[in-house]
Amino acid sequence: MRFPLGFTLTQAKHRAKMERAGQKRYPTVLMLEPLYTCNLACIGCSTERYTGKLKDRMSVETCFKAVEDCGAPIINICGGEPTLYPELPELIAGLIERGKYIILCTNALKLAEKVYGVIPPSDHLFLMVHLDGMKETHDYVCNREGVFDKAIEMVREGKKRGYYVYLNTTVYKETKIEEVEALCKLVDELSANGILISPGYEYQSVERDIFLTKEQTHEKFRRIRELAKSYKINATPTFLDFAAGMVDLPCSPWSTVNFTPKGWKAPCYLIEGEGYYQDWNEFWNKTDWAYWERREDSRCTNCKMHSGSEHSAVEEAMKTWKGTLRLAAWSFMG
Ligand code: SF4
Repeated sequence: MRFPLGFTLTQAKHRAKMERAGQKRYPTVLMLEPLYTCNLACIGCSTERYTGKLKDRMSVETCFKAVEDCGAPIINICGGEPTLYPELPELIAGLIERGKYIILCTNALKLAEKVYGVIPPSDHLFLMVHLDGMKETHDYVCNREGVFDKAIEMVREGKKRGYYVYLNTTVYKETKIEEVEALCKLVDELSANGILISPGYEYQSVERDIFLTKEQTHEKFRRIRELAKSYKINATPTFLDFAAGMVDLPCSPWSTVNFTPKGWKAPCYLIEGEGYYQDWNEFWNKTDWAYWERREDSRCTNCKMHSGSEHSAVEEAMKTWKGTLRLAAWSFMG
């Protein structure tokens, strides 16, 4: 199985419940950013996500309120670096109590002090370790030497202690597919649970020209799609078809909503300038989802992110028996 059975079943139940309720749009993932403080300043990251002060973090109660308001079954805790959030053990325990699945996106530098021996392993908790290449590339992207070696040590330790551990890599213009393949092999060597591979999003606040155009994404993902036949790549087959330019999909930004220290971010975690809402209902009802689904905005031109497209990929796959079977085979493999 690619993920624990409960994780896959929870998503299927959520989908069925929403469909029975006649909901065309609904969130499945909450990207919860309890803080904008980080111990790194990676070159591909939006500046505001690592320059925040710890004192400006949100309270655990505020996090739980956002979780209840949106109703998503999967909570992706990111930031900032979530292991720097002092209330992380309380937050994770409360989310598990509520039956949520948690993806903890981390650079791994603080796992030994803040997670191992503090937050017990659970089939509701997945550690997602950021690794943007092998040693030389990753240390360059993270702007610091030694980050790669530490991350590898922490992945090994996490697996030894019984955690679900995944790698998460972003593909930039300079990323060589040979290096992506080396990372896939590393997943097997480390007995990690899989790897999520995303094309980098062109943040307006990042000055260096490191991002892919749509055509470059297609070219790289045509090769990554081939790699997915041999390695545990956590992208659905239809998403990979989309990233490789073989099918078109509408965006579904409402499937992955984003709550930040400034409030609900419209329409998705990538777009700057559309404002924040303090109130869930206002955010949900005032955002023009139909507009963002069409990908017409200039800021969507090169975007092929999982967050906006995986829901559409699953919908597309489930339109036919062949697609549904392909999706089921993918879920149960690995
Ligand atoms: S296409 Fe990308 S940037 Fe545009 S709304 Fe969707 S997820 Fe956001």
